[in-house]
Amino acid sequence: MGADWHPEHFRCSVCQQPITDSRFYVHDGQPCHPTCFADNIAPRCVICNKPLTSRYHANYWGDTFCTDHTETLAPCNYCGRLVPHATKKTRRRSIDDIRCNICASTAIEHAPQAQHLLPPLIAWLEQQGVRFRHKNFRLELLDRTDFLSREGGRRDPLGLTTSTRYMRNRRVDHAVVDSIAIVKGLPATLFEGVCVHEIGHVWLVQHNIVNLPIMDEEGFCEWLAHRHYLAVGSKADRFYAQRIAQNSSPIYGDGFRKLKRLEDRVGFDQIIQSLLRKKKLPL
Ligand SMILES: [Zn+2]
Ligand SMILES: [Zn+2]
Ligand SMILES: [Zn+2]
Ligand SMILES: [Zn+2]
Repeated sequence: MGADWHPEHFRCSVCQQPITDSRFYVHDGQPCHPTCFADNIAPRCVICNKPLTSRYHANYWGDTFCTDHTETLAPCNYCGRLVPHATKKTRRRSIDDIRCNICASTAIEHAPQAQHLLPPLIAWLEQQGVRFRHKNFRLELLDRTDFLSREGGRRDPLGLTTSTRYMRNRRVDHAVVDSIAIVKGLPATLFEGVCVHEIGHVWLVQHNIVNLPIMDEEGFCEWLAHRHYLAVGSKADRFYAQRIAQNSSPIYGDGFRKLKRLEDRVGFDQIIQSLLRKKKLPL
């Protein structure tokens, strides 16, 4: 450490015993035994609990873990944390089963629970000037298999708004919302964002804004969900907001980024007013 010491004075900062070996760690400018460092100071792996004394990984959530787990374990479908009981082989067999315990602990599994979460989200949107003609639409939770087999609606990866569209001269003349359905088992934060997205579709239908290009419609709904995540602002909300902003999809991701640029230019209210009056986005 660039200084001369009496052997009995060169002591470990953890156990206060002399360090006789030439191998030692320096932590906060203080020497310590390698074993004392590993047992008391080094971060632990969240998967196997081993002390991490050399290279290791850290994820968005602040978890630290051994580098080699990323090669064998599959990430949670929702939050991306590695799931101890799911290997990459499990993932190939069934892509939908991988959910970590943290996401499972807040999962929305029952329709009454889901229905209960809806009114505050509608109230939040109305505060922003996104007002509804009817607020009594039905919310269902669907198993993934039922969700994937459901026809006749606007389907997003995790939600589905079903409406009946009435045509005139091959254009949609008007439409009526029948229900929205959301995949069962989403963690609560994601559920709320998906809900806001689907309620965005409902709002468009209720105001007869039914001929938007798909990129504009999905971009608008993603933009509302993103706004909600930022308004709530928890670490999980910011995670899902980031996922919307970084989505590489030419419909969802590019659509969101188009709305965001528009908002920067003309403002939130102007976008809502243009949709209400002209049934399209401002130029
Ligand atoms: Zn020690
Ligand atoms: Zn480990
Ligand atoms: Zn998770
Ligand atoms: Zn959508």
